[in-house]
Amino acid sequence: CGIVGYVGPRQSQDVLISGLSRLEYRGYDSAGIAVIDADGGLGMRKRAGKLQVLRDDLAARPLTDGTTGIGHTRWATHGGPTDGNAHPHLADDDRLAVIHNGIIENFGELKAELLSEGFTFRSETDTEVAAVLLGREYRRTGDLVAAFRAVAPRLEGAFTLLATHQEQPGLVVGARRNSPLVIGLGEGENFLGSDVAAFVEYTRNALAIGQDQIVAITPDAVTVTDFAGNPVEVEPFEVTWDA
Ligand code: GLU
Repeated sequence: CGIVGYVGPRQSQDVLISGLSRLEYRGYDSAGIAVIDADGGLGMRKRAGKLQVLRDDLAARPLTDGTTGIGHTRWATHGGPTDGNAHPHLADDDRLAVIHNGIIENFGELKAELLSEGFTFRSETDTEVAAVLLGREYRRTGDLVAAFRAVAPRLEGAFTLLATHQEQPGLVVGARRNSPLVIGLGEGENFLGSDVAAFVEYTRNALAIGQDQIVAITPDAVTVTDFAGNPVEVEPFEVTWDA
């Protein structure tokens, strides 16, 4: 339902939680974040219920600090609103975290393919199928962007997908089809959001991502391509409304 991604010098947890709180108006039933920490580990926390449940959990059991992260508020479509079905979903031996807005219509056949190859699942969501596919392609390529190019065209329906991998700290990759995703441009930091509310507190310089495109953000660079990897023009705009 709500999506935020961050790379830069700040503690990403703070940026993610404040972005998610600005996306609360959209409605949701669960919330979660994943952070790549300074030691190159991936920390993840997700809870059914209000954002405050996640905040309290993080206060009681803090994640290690880290400056790369992704955050999600979920409106359940496949699988009930439980802690386990909340996003992020992990794959590649818990080194890869994925969040998703929308519905992957062909998740049943993709899940059958993965089950036949011996992959296992921990949730009832359509999203976890995308996570496991991205993990499988990451193992083949060692490159999160390449994994997105292999997986995104196979997904039918509506999705905004964001992922981060602990082996590639300082990188968040996203893709969109029939579901919104915008880039927030900072200085030495960049943001992704399902809408500009996710990052308007930090920057008003934004880029719109077109249909069937993949974006990679690092602290100093933003790269947008189509699903085949061809560079595309992106349209800059300024967020003019008050935060
Ligand atoms: N279909 C996904 C799920 O049920 C994502 C729902 C959403 O957009 O929040 O987990």
